[in-house]
Amino acid sequence: MISTNIDTAKQLLQNEGIIGFPTETVYGLAGNVFSDKAIRSIFEMKNRPYNNPLIVHIGNIEQLDKVSQEIPLKARILAEQFWPGPLTLLLKKSSEVSDLVTAGQSTVAVRMPNHSLALDLLNSLNFPLVAPSANPYQSISPTSAKHVEHYFGNQGLFILEGGESINGLESTIVGFEEDEVIVYRHGAIPLEELESAVGSVRLNEEQKNGIVSPGMAAKHYSPKTPLIFADSLIKQIEHFETKDIAVICFDKLPKLFNMESSIIYSFQGNLENAAKRLYGLLHELDDRNLECILIEKFPDQGLGRTINDRLKRAATLN
Ligand code: AMP
Ligand code: MG
Repeated sequence: MISTNIDTAKQLLQNEGIIGFPTETVYGLAGNVFSDKAIRSIFEMKNRPYNNPLIVHIGNIEQLDKVSQEIPLKARILAEQFWPGPLTLLLKKSSEVSDLVTAGQSTVAVRMPNHSLALDLLNSLNFPLVAPSANPYQSISPTSAKHVEHYFGNQGLFILEGGESINGLESTIVGFEEDEVIVYRHGAIPLEELESAVGSVRLNEEQKNGIVSPGMAAKHYSPKTPLIFADSLIKQIEHFETKDIAVICFDKLPKLFNMESSIIYSFQGNLENAAKRLYGLLHELDDRNLECILIEKFPDQGLGRTINDRLKRAATLN
C-alpha cells in the first residue's frame, strides 16, 4: 500500500516491521537496525543472501556514534561535505550493531540520505534504519513508490510515498585504510567529486576489474528482458534489423536505423538525467515483452562510470 502517512511508517518500524522507504538514490526496504527480527524479514523478503551486508541510514550526525567508532579524519571530511547525500562510509562497527547487518564484517556501512521525508522519519525514531534497495535480489532497483509496489505490493508492504528518486543510482561506497580512501562501489557521487574533497582515491580490485564488492554477485540490476550493453550500436543493430527491440543511446542516434518495431530512446547527452531516468526506463521497457534492450556504452567519466558499471552487471547473463 502506498501512503504519505509518516506516523504509520513510524509505528510499523517501532514494532519491528519493515516499510518501503524513499531516498534520493533508490527506494529502500527499511527496518530497525537493532531488531534482528526486522533485519531477517528484509533478507527474506528480498531473497538476499545473508553474506551481503546492509547499509545503515542515519538522520543526524549524533546517530553515527550509535553504530560506528574510531572515525578516520577523511571519513569526517567526506561526511561533512557530502551528507546528507549519496555517499556510504565503511566504518568500524560499534558493538551494538549485529553481525546480521554487516555479514560478520568488522565494518558497518553508513550514510545520511538527502531526502526530507526520509530525514523526518529517521529523526522521529530513536534508532537508525537499515535499508537495502527495495527490489528482489538481482533485479532492477526501484526509483519510485510504484516500482516498490510492483515488487512487493502483493505482500502488503507499506510504502512511504516520497516522489521519484532525485539521483536514481545507488550511493557510492568508500572505505578507509590508514590514510587512504578506497572506492568499493561506484555510485551517485562521481570519483572526480571525491577526489576534489580528499585528493586521490584508490579503486579496490573488484572495481578496477569490473567485478563486485564482497557478497555481491556479478549479476545485478537486471531486467528480465535480455540486455545487450555495446560499445557500438551500429555493429549490434545489424543483427536485429526488423525485430522487436529497444535501443537506448546516450547522445545522438546513429543514422542507420530503419527498424520498424523498435523503441528508440536518447538521453540527449545529459548524464544527470540519464542517471535519474535509467532504472525507470528499464522498468518500463521490461514490461513490453521485447526481444532485447540494446544500450550504448556511456562516456566513462563522472556519473557515466557508475552507469557503465551498473549496465555491465545488468547485462551479465548468469
Ligand atoms: P544495497 O543496500 O542493495 O545498495 O547494497 C549494499 C551494498 O553495500 C552491499 O551489497 C555491499 O556491497 C556494500 N556493503 C555494505 N556493508 C558493507 C561492509 N561492511 N563492507 C563492505 N561492503 C559493504
Ligand atoms: Mg541493491
